[in-house]
Amino acid sequence: MEDLALFGGKPVIDYALARYRTVGPEERAAVDRVLASGVLSGFVGAWCDHFHGGPEIRSFEAECATLLGVRHALTVNSNTSGLFAAIGAAGVGPGDEVIVPPLTMSATAMAPLIYGGIPVFVDIEPDTFCLDPQKVREALTPRTRAIIAVNLFGHPAALHELRQLADEKGLILIEDNAQAPLANDQGILTGSIGHIGVYSLNYHKHFHTGEGGICTTNDDDLALRLQIIRNHGENVVEPLAVGNLTNLVGFNYRMTEMSAAVGREQLKKAAGLVDRREYLANRMTAGLSDLPGLTPPKVRDGCRHVYYVWVMRYDESIVGIPRELFCKALGAEGFPVNEGYVAPLYWLPLFQQRIAIGSGGYPFNLSQRRYEQGLCPVAERLHRKELVEFHICSYDVTDADADRLIAAVRKVYANRHRLVALPG
Ligand SMILES: *Cc1c(COP(=O)(O)O)cnc(C)c1O
Repeated sequence: MEDLALFGGKPVIDYALARYRTVGPEERAAVDRVLASGVLSGFVGAWCDHFHGGPEIRSFEAECATLLGVRHALTVNSNTSGLFAAIGAAGVGPGDEVIVPPLTMSATAMAPLIYGGIPVFVDIEPDTFCLDPQKVREALTPRTRAIIAVNLFGHPAALHELRQLADEKGLILIEDNAQAPLANDQGILTGSIGHIGVYSLNYHKHFHTGEGGICTTNDDDLALRLQIIRNHGENVVEPLAVGNLTNLVGFNYRMTEMSAAVGREQLKKAAGLVDRREYLANRMTAGLSDLPGLTPPKVRDGCRHVYYVWVMRYDESIVGIPRELFCKALGAEGFPVNEGYVAPLYWLPLFQQRIAIGSGGYPFNLSQRRYEQGLCPVAERLHRKELVEFHICSYDVTDADADRLIAAVRKVYANRHRLVALPG
């Protein structure tokens, strides 16, 4: 067998993987159509017909609602904006607690802070990497107002259980569904099981508009509150005779007509793009499921995983060498992987120093919550020791590429004894 690339052998993948690309002539024609119309945005931040945006926005939202299986789909300019709007619509206020997972993109845990809420980190399941519903139950206090569940890496969190818990306790369940469009749990699409779903249309995601996002809900009142927060709602609460004004200070989270036009084309491709990702991930999983100490992604019974990233769990005690060395050798073979995903978010200075909004930190400093090491041991262990992540969403992986990615892992695995002597 060829020597490891780390020792000068020929890499299994000796060419650059193609960048993931989802836009083509269709999107270009759609943008041309908007430019020709001269209407680049149709929004007005006051109560009139234009409060809900221009023709592309409205058509895109109607098409999103159909594809995503919800009554209301509302565009925003990012998933981050969508999470802020969702926290606002949920009525989170100063000192209210919001349950969040520690392993996710940072915006998930920042969203409660915008309204003076307190992010409460709850540990995740060791195999799905999503919130552990039992631990969520144990973390509830009289101040808990909402739960943000992240369908991490494309796999549904324990959404039905969390929704039941939320309904039982009068909480709002928000799904951060940025990584799991068209995933489902028992046939019901992620993003539609919680009270509010939030999607990203950022260019890293399965389908995109460069920047953008979508909030979904089946609840008419939440939909109205999301619309108000999106678009200078202080100007419309009178004409709409809105009774509860909590958090109804509006922002400008509006999407442009061009982004919506691109989004409409992307939606037509969405199912195919997600199918392709699932197919590739299954191919990789099938090619690597027999190696002791390497555990490919688990799919819970009755769920569809859509693989924003393809992640395996690494067990050093079985493989026999540190994860760092294994990943270094894989990288040399041309298979780009990351050790871990992101560090547990409570390690960020913002949490460690308890200063978020103003130097007084109100209400953050008043929180009894501690963000110490060991708070979420499963997440910490996964980050430090176990996760090996392949950013499948960054590349246009062909079947032949997938087979080489598999071959690279198998080659490193077969030669791992050669790595034992190396210093970490
Ligand atoms: C990408 C991502 C976000 C942020 O999305 P933007 O549209 O870039 O704001 C938030 N949460 C998760 C889980 C993500 O993957």
